[in-house]
Amino acid sequence: MDKAHDKCGVFALSSPKRASIQLIIEGIRLLQHRGQESAGVAYAENERIVAIKGLGLVDEVFKENFNKLVNNGIGHVRYSTTGASSVEEAQPLGDSEIVVAFNGTISNYYKFGSFKTDTEFIYDFFKQRITHYPLLNIVKEFMEIVDGGYSVVILLKDGKIVAFRDPKGLHPLTVGSLNDSLIVSSEDSAIKQLGGRVLKHISPGELMIIHDGKIMYDEMIYERTRNYATCSFEYIYFARPDSNIDGYSVYLARIRLGEVLAEKHPAKGDIVVPVPDSSRPIALGFSRKSGVPLEEALVRTISSVRSFIMPTQDKRTEVLEEKFGVVSEVIMNKRVILIDDSIVRGNTMKRIIKMLRSSGAKEIHVRIGSPMIKYACFMGIDFPKREELIAYNKSEKEIGKELDADSIEYLTVEEMVQAIGRKDLCTACFSGIYPLKFKYDIKELEKNFGK
Ligand code: 5GP
Ligand code: MG
Repeated sequence: MDKAHDKCGVFALSSPKRASIQLIIEGIRLLQHRGQESAGVAYAENERIVAIKGLGLVDEVFKENFNKLVNNGIGHVRYSTTGASSVEEAQPLGDSEIVVAFNGTISNYYKFGSFKTDTEFIYDFFKQRITHYPLLNIVKEFMEIVDGGYSVVILLKDGKIVAFRDPKGLHPLTVGSLNDSLIVSSEDSAIKQLGGRVLKHISPGELMIIHDGKIMYDEMIYERTRNYATCSFEYIYFARPDSNIDGYSVYLARIRLGEVLAEKHPAKGDIVVPVPDSSRPIALGFSRKSGVPLEEALVRTISSVRSFIMPTQDKRTEVLEEKFGVVSEVIMNKRVILIDDSIVRGNTMKRIIKMLRSSGAKEIHVRIGSPMIKYACFMGIDFPKREELIAYNKSEKEIGKELDADSIEYLTVEEMVQAIGRKDLCTACFSGIYPLKFKYDIKELEKNFGK
């Protein structure tokens, strides 16, 4: 049951002249927040694909400054919450003829055979068909029969790059240009940071085929209406704050989450303290709206490791203990309004509240910039099994008690949607309303997904 599901970053480069593979490596480095477990790149040369990948951060996998010149290549950073992570599961996944880099979850992949991961399913699907059918037909069939959220880039041995986004646009995917090259990236912030220009956000159900820096094909092949159900958690936590998803700024969404929180869920406190780094814009919005001063009284000590991704509870607690320091001079005798973007299992909050109490906090009022996470995700966010979610069967009051907070309040789903500023969001983990097209037995899905 303990299968790996991926929440990742994808990247592609296509150039008419040979460009340094370092551009792809830099691209995935800029997407490192989307996955810290494995990293890889692949390029096409003389009708063959070469892939280089390994476990760890981009800088650990690509230590040597090897400088290959390539026309067409893709890259991937992977994040999976299952314990056994192996280099075989690292992406781009495939062989010398076709490789896949994938972000999301194929909700029904287990119905098509016994695949170790949904990425393996995608690879197999294309591999079986690629020499028999036109690409367009293969992607169309794929979109017909699979369910879930997927932003995919595939590299073929002739150098073609196939990029597509699921018909609900669950996770982001953008296209940009850099000199005469084209770039595909999970987030547009990476394109901008490389010095490129963002051309557009790929639409739901859109397929692009790119080769040697030229767009060979680009159509919305599933539905012509833009039927989004974009993951609200991308805005709340996952994406970089300097990214823009489908025309909506992630940073501004977070500021407004904080403003709405202050408006609808005020607290009597002396200082507003964010849990760094993800909740900082939310806390800033809260502070500005409420007039309560912001204090950076929690200090993040290791920046690259996110505790959430550690495979066991022991490991998660261990990392959390090293993760934050407290400026006790600021906390002493204060009524603290503690802001985080989300609570999943509750480990982070429990630990921080304990630290703040021992630093002399007088009161601790927790305010969360998202609704209660009560349901599993089958579309790309790696939440644990439902029973491990602290909010799955508890009220705010009970959660507050378990965390030892003086008070705790979350946003409602409506308030969150209002704050993010777009209505066409997926809210499944909060509301239990899944934007899936086929009917499922939820118990069966839960059995197949979540740790
Ligand atoms: P908890 O400690 O409650 O299990 O996780 C909540 C904390 O982890 C929050 O501080 C939040 O910013 C962060 N978080 C929430 N979702 C994710 C996720 O999908 N991945 C990672 N790495 N961190 C997360
Ligand atoms: Mg956090």
